[in-house]
Amino acid sequence: MAKKSIMGLREAAMAYRPSASGHLPDPVQHPSPAPSPAAAPTSVNPDDYSKPYCEFMTANPTIFHAVDSFTKQLESQGYKRLPERDTWKLERGGKYYTTRNASAFIAFAVGADYQAGNGMAIVAGHIDALTAKLKPVSKLPTKAGFVQLGVAPYAGALNETWWDRDLSIGGRVLVRDPATGKVESKLVKLDWPIARIPTLAPHFGAPSQGPFNKETQMVPVVGIDNSDLFAQQTPTSTPSYAPGTFAATQPSKLVKVISKELNITDPSTILNWELELYDSQPAQLGGLEKDLIFAGRIDDKLCCYAAQEALLASPSNTSPSSIKMVGMFDDEEIGSLLRQGARSNFMSSVMERITETFATPSNTYGPNLLAQTVANSFFVSSDVIHAVNPNFLNVYLENHAPRLNVGVAVSADSNGHMTTDSVSHAFIKRVAEKCGSTLQVFQIRNDSRSGGTIGPMTSSRIGMRAIDVGIPQLSMHSIRATTGSQDPGLGVKLFKGFFDYFEEIDREFVDF
Ligand SMILES: [Zn+2]
Repeated sequence: MAKKSIMGLREAAMAYRPSASGHLPDPVQHPSPAPSPAAAPTSVNPDDYSKPYCEFMTANPTIFHAVDSFTKQLESQGYKRLPERDTWKLERGGKYYTTRNASAFIAFAVGADYQAGNGMAIVAGHIDALTAKLKPVSKLPTKAGFVQLGVAPYAGALNETWWDRDLSIGGRVLVRDPATGKVESKLVKLDWPIARIPTLAPHFGAPSQGPFNKETQMVPVVGIDNSDLFAQQTPTSTPSYAPGTFAATQPSKLVKVISKELNITDPSTILNWELELYDSQPAQLGGLEKDLIFAGRIDDKLCCYAAQEALLASPSNTSPSSIKMVGMFDDEEIGSLLRQGARSNFMSSVMERITETFATPSNTYGPNLLAQTVANSFFVSSDVIHAVNPNFLNVYLENHAPRLNVGVAVSADSNGHMTTDSVSHAFIKRVAEKCGSTLQVFQIRNDSRSGGTIGPMTSSRIGMRAIDVGIPQLSMHSIRATTGSQDPGLGVKLFKGFFDYFEEIDREFVDF
């Protein structure tokens, strides 16, 4: 299936771009997008994306790092940042992105022949993942010589897969510049594991068997402090911070390490932070022939990665009368109902601002033009889907169990947990035919319960035609998951096909 490749693209994909921006070097190597050919859209070689995807996953353990990396990559490819606070000035042929809370963003390319009211071809997913976030006051009293950290689960984290993992810490730190008063956000991640949630050995009998209390039995250990045994010694070599400061509410050793990492000389300038624990094991190729990928946080940075690469690889001369758009949202794992989540007005606001900017005196901005835009648009909601697990075949529905390294699966559900219907399924099938992708399909058994995606909430709120698709993975919601080595690239291939052939295929579906 997906082995065909045009040499030009393959070579371009191997020629990795240099550092994405002037400041922090970006260690991730992304395949370069296709050059803009005058001929038909180039094909994608899925193997080109295996290693870059692993590198991306290792380098970007938190949502803030992922958004930062994606947006830097966009800038390196000519996308201009549009602050939501500013008036937007857009041009045909222009490429733009806007962020919200530094944990969600929307990128779009305006076709050279775009007119207000024309359709938008949209692929969107979520980049948040199960994690353990530091509590507002994360400092805990030392217990039996151990320094511990107060954390709370985000979504289903701190489940049984979090035991005995090498956990590191990262996120964003808000620092106030004492000279100017300006508050800045600084990204941080430590390059060694700082925490561990130790299991209780089976020798202790019943207490080692669970179920376990996430508040009292899964508190991460971050160091040792036996100073209480030796009262004559100085209790601790770490400083204590002024009462009332944020630093005083956090473990002093952690404040010290984070301050050092960010060159903060006065920790009282730290106003707050959003730090989380993450599995520090790098994403890597696995299997005897390296045809698997083992990584944390695959759900749903996998589809987001594929969507971004597809947008960048889709040549500007395809679907020139449309907008090609990618959205990545926060908060999906907790219901999406925050301003950077998919239930917010983020995407509709961007669609409205684009439509208004290109409205003309004869094609005026208002409900007509907006509704027309929405009706002409099509939304591919992309979220990872369950690959078939060979050890549990009986829980899968026959003919609805996607395999790894075959292709993206259409996600279906008879009760509206997915947006897929006969029209959108037929639409994406046409995309797959055009770009040479193999489509699979997933539906859950009648005696199990379907998961959810951002598809129904986003498409119903805005009113767009939509489909739910997913790249297959094993071990969803485990701290460490598995996908196929070709699956990131197979996602790129289908999503690029969607952007490339959107207008052509949409003409076949004008009655819907
Ligand atoms: Zn997901």
